[in-house]
Amino acid sequence: MLVVGAGPGGSAAAMRLAEEGLDVLVIEKRQVVGNPAQCGECIPAWGEMSDAFPVIKGDPWLEDYWDFPPHVMGQYLEWMRLFSPSMREYGFELDCYGAHRLQFDGHLGDRAQRAGAEIRTGTELRKVQKQPKLNREVYRTNNGSYTADYVIDASGALAHVSRLRGKGERPGVQLPTIYCQVSGHQTDSFDIFMGSVAPGGYAWIIPKGEIANVGIGIRHKYIDRPLKQWLDKFCDDLGVTIHSYGGGWIPLGGKVKSAVNDNVLGVGDAAGLVMPSNGGGIGQAIISGKLAGDAILSNLNSGASLAGYDRALNVTMAKPLRISTRSKNLFWAFCRNDFMTETAMRILGTNGLRRAVDCRRPLFII
Ligand SMILES: Cc1cc2nc3c(=O)[nH]c(=O)nc-3n(C[C@H](O)[C@H](O)[C@H](O)COP(=O)(O)OP(=O)(O)OC[C@H]3O[C@@H](n4cnc5c(N)ncnc54)[C@H](O)[C@@H]3O)c2cc1C
Repeated sequence: MLVVGAGPGGSAAAMRLAEEGLDVLVIEKRQVVGNPAQCGECIPAWGEMSDAFPVIKGDPWLEDYWDFPPHVMGQYLEWMRLFSPSMREYGFELDCYGAHRLQFDGHLGDRAQRAGAEIRTGTELRKVQKQPKLNREVYRTNNGSYTADYVIDASGALAHVSRLRGKGERPGVQLPTIYCQVSGHQTDSFDIFMGSVAPGGYAWIIPKGEIANVGIGIRHKYIDRPLKQWLDKFCDDLGVTIHSYGGGWIPLGGKVKSAVNDNVLGVGDAAGLVMPSNGGGIGQAIISGKLAGDAILSNLNSGASLAGYDRALNVTMAKPLRISTRSKNLFWAFCRNDFMTETAMRILGTNGLRRAVDCRRPLFII
């Protein structure tokens, strides 16, 4: 079993399979799992996830997996506040943590290793070659070549396994983002700022103890200067001190139609499982990693088709993700300037905005 990427999706899949006694190798291009982070670092608690995807309530493995130790969870975030362009505030309850992905991803990797998986860091998948004689694919890295009966693409938003195979679906629309770690921020809620501060996206502040993660995602067509300049201006206005920068892509196109191609199963961002209306993807990466593991075990034990993985994804999260994609599309269609964003937020009100963030229909008619 080869897992490409030791993010939340890869580590959950690796643990699920290793604890059943399978031989699991995870290759990870970074030297240290979770470092550097590419994230706002808001980790959903079990309550938040099981409200968004009620089907998982009946899954004891996942509920157990979500029992993260306090030392990796950072600061509890009880509130989210959305700010309109005129700084009108819409607040509602949340059940999340502002954490450090270095510690969080490291913890998930440790659990996979304790279950028996091997994680080989500093190992980047660079090429996939077909070996017609063996009727197999060879996965070539800077650190050796591998073949496997099953491969999990847990390589994140750019879905490198599908890219290098030239086969399989990859997530569509990507939102470019940049963030920084700051000190000097006072509030304890997850704050989101809409409008010209981040056209076609949003700016965020996620407190995590002494420091906060402040970031910005902007729709590609509105980027007229380096993203860093947008973020620096936002941080200047906040009056915070910046310590370091990071960034990455958030796939906002919704779930790929099929996350299975031959013996390759895409999980997490590689399968487009981010919630497009809020950019969160850690929880879905974990859920899909577990479901991919289940499908491989069923295939091995009873010959069930790997397509069962797609069905499981659809049952678990297709509807909320479809609603979330539609909310994002409506946002892109109508909120083209501050006036329209302000008006749309007033029409939706706190309840409608909360529903949109939670992947529910923001109004009963749409
Ligand atoms: C700036 C930003 C802010 C975000 N904020 C949040 C948030 O606050 N909350 C939330 O829930 N989600 C957030 N997300 C989304 C979240 O980060 C992802 O949904 C989540 O990390 C997906 O997990 P994953 O396991 O699918 O992929 P990833 O976490 O991206 O892990 C992929 C792993 O694969 C490795 N890899 C990539 N290519 C190769 C290769 N060729 N060979 C070997 N290894 C490789 C990478 O190094 C990485 O470790 C944010 C994303 C970004 C970019």
